[in-house]
Order: sequence, then structure tokens, then C-alpha cells
Amino acid sequence: MGYAFSSGTELLDLTDKHGTAISDITINYSAEQQNLAGLDILGEMQRRLQVIREAIDLGMQHAERSASGLSGGDAQRLTAYAPDVPLLGQPVKQAITYSFAIMEHNARFGRIVAFPTAGSAGTVPGCLLAAAEALGKDDAALVRAMFTSAGIGMIIGNNAMLAGATGGCQAEVGSASAMAAAALTELRGGSPDQCFQAAAIALKGLLGLVCDPIGGLVEAPCVKRNATAIANAFMASDLALAGIVSNVPFDEVVEAMRNIGRSMPASLRETAKGGLAATETGKRVWCAVMGDES
Ligand code: SF4
Repeated sequence: MGYAFSSGTELLDLTDKHGTAISDITINYSAEQQNLAGLDILGEMQRRLQVIREAIDLGMQHAERSASGLSGGDAQRLTAYAPDVPLLGQPVKQAITYSFAIMEHNARFGRIVAFPTAGSAGTVPGCLLAAAEALGKDDAALVRAMFTSAGIGMIIGNNAMLAGATGGCQAEVGSASAMAAAALTELRGGSPDQCFQAAAIALKGLLGLVCDPIGGLVEAPCVKRNATAIANAFMASDLALAGIVSNVPFDEVVEAMRNIGRSMPASLRETAKGGLAATETGKRVWCAVMGDES
């Protein structure tokens, strides 16, 4: 296939060869893989964008806590927060607000787009929708940026992992942060190489992050970890656009992430037996959720 890639180096070579962006290569590769026309692939992503917007709208409308009581109301709380000296920039604040809305909607069993997973579903959409608003980008640009992030996610999924159960939270929220960092960078006019620098910097910053959901629920620390991933993605994109490079190339960072994930004990891979899940609070929530002391 003309646009097939399995690593960052191969994808970067394809952008060089065709003189185009990561999003274009990913769109063409996806069309080839699914035997669809490019326009159909774009239409499908536009449909997912609509699902994301509905999740944000519904998430913003509700402030009640989830059934577990672990999440809910923070999207509205952050919207209302207007300090005299806003040290957190508006696009980042908006991105986190959108992310909270999506994650809170998920915790109420609403429909979301796993991006790349449910636990990390707020990071890429939050970053891209907030950045598109700040930069005055239309839906066509937004959909392309979603494909940029998808290209990065495909590489990580093929060469490492994307699930907390196999690689810890670095694989979920860390990957989402890398995907968002690359997409933000392309959306802002960065080169393909700068996109990969941003992805490498973002993923490095979250290497080793464990998966320790309290009560085994995708709420705490998941909701707020998406906020961490968003701030990390904006930071990485800015560094890359400033010309700062990662000392370790993207593909090697992915390899490191895979090796760290494989050496993580099971207690820190979504079993709710270690980390925050094993704190006094975590145990109390587990008993409340499971209805026993086991
Ligand atoms: S802590 Fe685990 S379940 Fe929660 S977002 Fe991270 S990887 Fe997903």
C-alpha cells in the first residue's frame, strides 16, 4: 500500500516523499486500509466530531455527581472560575473544561468517542476543540488534526500499547497527550518533524505513569489525569514550535514506554490493587462499590 506506515520514521519519510502533512498521510492510509474514498473517511471523522460535541454539551449541562460520587460538576466549576489574574491560559482552561465535560458524561454512562480509550477520551478532543476556537480554525482543519493524532496513536498502538491494563496510564493518558501534542502542532502550522518532536516530548513527560483507578472505576484519578495530559500537550507543542527537540526520537520513546509497561507489576495495571486505589480512600471506595471488604 502506498501510504502504509508502522513507525514514526516511516510516517515522516512519507510526508517528505509526498511533500505533505501527517494528517494527509493518515487520511490516505486509512482510506487504503478500509477500501474507502478519502471523502468517506473524512465524513466518518466528522461524524465522530459530532458525537464529541454532543458529549461536551450534555456533560456541561449536568453538575450532579456520578453514581459512585467520584466525579461530576467540575466542568461547570471550572467554567465559573474566573480569577483576577488568570495564570492558566484561556485555551488550556477551555480544553480542560471540555475534557471534564466528556469524562463526566462518560461517568454517567453517556456516549463518548474513545480517543484512544475511554479513560483518556477528554485529552485530544479537549485540546483540539479549544485550540480550534482560539485559532479560528474550521471543522475541516479540526477533522484533519484528528487524523494527525490518529496517526500518532496508530504507531503507539502498533509498537507498544494503548491500554492501562497492558501498559499503565502512560499508555492511555500518555499516548493521548502525545497524540494531542502532535495534532496541536500541525494545527498551528508546525512541520511534520515538529509534530513528532512534540509527541516525543509529551510522551516522555508521562513515562512510568501507573494505572490505579479508585474502585476500579474510570473516574479517579482518570478525569484529572486528562487535565494533566492536556497541559502537558500544550507545553510540548510550544516547545516543539520553539525549535526545541527531544534528545530521544519518538520511535525510541515509544519503545521505552512499551518496555516500562511490560515491567510494571499487575497491581499498577488497572487491577485497582495498587497506587491510589490501594490508599485508605481507595479501599473505602472499593468496598462501597463492590459491597464487601475483599
Ligand atoms: S488510571 Fe487507568 S483507567 Fe484511569 S485513565 Fe489512567 S489508564 Fe485509564
